[in-house]
Amino acid sequence: MVQFFLERDRLAEFVSHLMSRNTVYAPHSRGQKSFAFEEVCHAADVVLDYPRTMHSVKKFFMPPREELLSFNLTENSYKANEAQPLDSIFFGVHSYDLAAVHRLDYNFSQGHPERNYLTRRQGAIFVGVSYEPDEYHFGGSVGIDPFDTTGFDVFLTKLLDGYVVEALTPEGEGLLEGFDLPVHEAGKPARGHFQQHIYLPQAKLTTVMEHSYDNEIWKETAERCVGCGTCNLVCPTCYCFNVEENVGITATEGTRDRHWDGCMLREFSEVAGGEFFREGAGDRQRHRIFRKFKYISEATGEPWCVGCGRCTAYCTADISIVNIVNRLVADYEKTTTVNL
Ligand code: SF4
Ligand code: SF4
Repeated sequence: MVQFFLERDRLAEFVSHLMSRNTVYAPHSRGQKSFAFEEVCHAADVVLDYPRTMHSVKKFFMPPREELLSFNLTENSYKANEAQPLDSIFFGVHSYDLAAVHRLDYNFSQGHPERNYLTRRQGAIFVGVSYEPDEYHFGGSVGIDPFDTTGFDVFLTKLLDGYVVEALTPEGEGLLEGFDLPVHEAGKPARGHFQQHIYLPQAKLTTVMEHSYDNEIWKETAERCVGCGTCNLVCPTCYCFNVEENVGITATEGTRDRHWDGCMLREFSEVAGGEFFREGAGDRQRHRIFRKFKYISEATGEPWCVGCGRCTAYCTADISIVNIVNRLVADYEKTTTVNL
């Protein structure tokens, strides 16, 4: 495969080239150490040196809030809102965030396929960029390297003075057409070095979870967790939502709206009659961790956590998912004679 070289100074020129092809979404700086994926208006505003954005590209395919339909009670009618294909270029995406999109593709294709999400996903082209793991990333423990090109159309591997550029699909080759890049021949960096690790291969974690239902860690984290739900809301693989009907003040018309929800929020498990089937914060934490390393993993063989580190980086109570999982592994090894 031919590798090209993009000098760091030509990054904005390259983004302008992409903007001439289609709408481009890319990371922007939003205050001190905060980054967000947004539509690019000025190519020079795009930032490729970022640890993580607060929200992943999930927000474009599954918006935090959307109106599903509007209804009129006087006319006894309704009008559904049809989602449109985004048909855009997502530039500067990290490998874990595209892996998360692929997991959502699976989730929303099961059972009754989720039409709005799947429609918006159509036509999306992904241009990836490698990253330097910080104190929260642990992609290596879930099989997703910073240089993992899986699913990307074009991938940029960061060097000191620029980027090695590879087109990985015909769509990617089409994106590079018309932009003059010299051939790169000197190779690429080998692997990323993570500071955070889960001390067990991810394929064995489902067994550990199986034996961790009554672990003390759930009570211990519950004493610190404030139930804010941030860990759910920033997670690129969380996909739970709530649907509510909002009737206008005249009580003749209204909308059916969908918004993100999260299993760490107490009301999430409230059912008719005012009962809560996961009353305690520890119950909810166990459910969150099991969703990432047990329930869906048993069906797919994959962890449903991509190691982005967002839930830890943004946790209000400094609760670390890596520490929780490593504690479960350590307790399992202490209390069982069965080799993993
Ligand atoms: S559980 Fe945490 S580390 Fe894993 S994908 Fe979600 S936010 Fe990222
Ligand atoms: S972000 Fe932290 S404090 Fe908030 S619900 Fe999640 S674990 Fe609890």
